[in-house]
Amino acid sequence: MGLLDALFRSNEILGIAEETLEFAIESSEAAHPREYMGFLRGTEADRLGLERDGLVITDVLVVPGTETNSVSATVKTNQIPNDVKALGSVHSHPNGVIQPSNADLDTFGRGSVHIIIGAPYRRTDWQAFDSQGKPTNLNVIDVELPETEEFFDFTQADIDEDLRG
Ligand SMILES: [Zn+2]
Repeated sequence: MGLLDALFRSNEILGIAEETLEFAIESSEAAHPREYMGFLRGTEADRLGLERDGLVITDVLVVPGTETNSVSATVKTNQIPNDVKALGSVHSHPNGVIQPSNADLDTFGRGSVHIIIGAPYRRTDWQAFDSQGKPTNLNVIDVELPETEEFFDFTQADIDEDLRG
């Protein structure tokens, strides 16, 4: 399975890996009272042992240079690597209000699922939203995650190889 196949074969998001969700919640708590912000990346379900098409969110990419304070996180978009295809975003609301702000709604158009995690960062203190900012159901899936290097080892050479087939 090549990288480009993994990116384009199916855009359906089946859910988020339980481990990934827990990581994001723990990271949000660690960042408090500052806002935590990251992008969501996925892995093909069949690579995780699920016998179906689609993607499972398995990874949170925190962009270098993200500036956060208690009310907002600003991402320097030129810091986002070109080879990263984000399915959506995750960020925290240290004030505990688990609803998109107007500024959030402006950015939700990029990507299809956006998670907001709120203080006090319990396991249930989160909600997924669609690109319109409407609450959406996101399954939490108990899967074994592959070795992390598989996620981060993509290089231009890999992509070129895929393009050659
Ligand atoms: Zn927000």
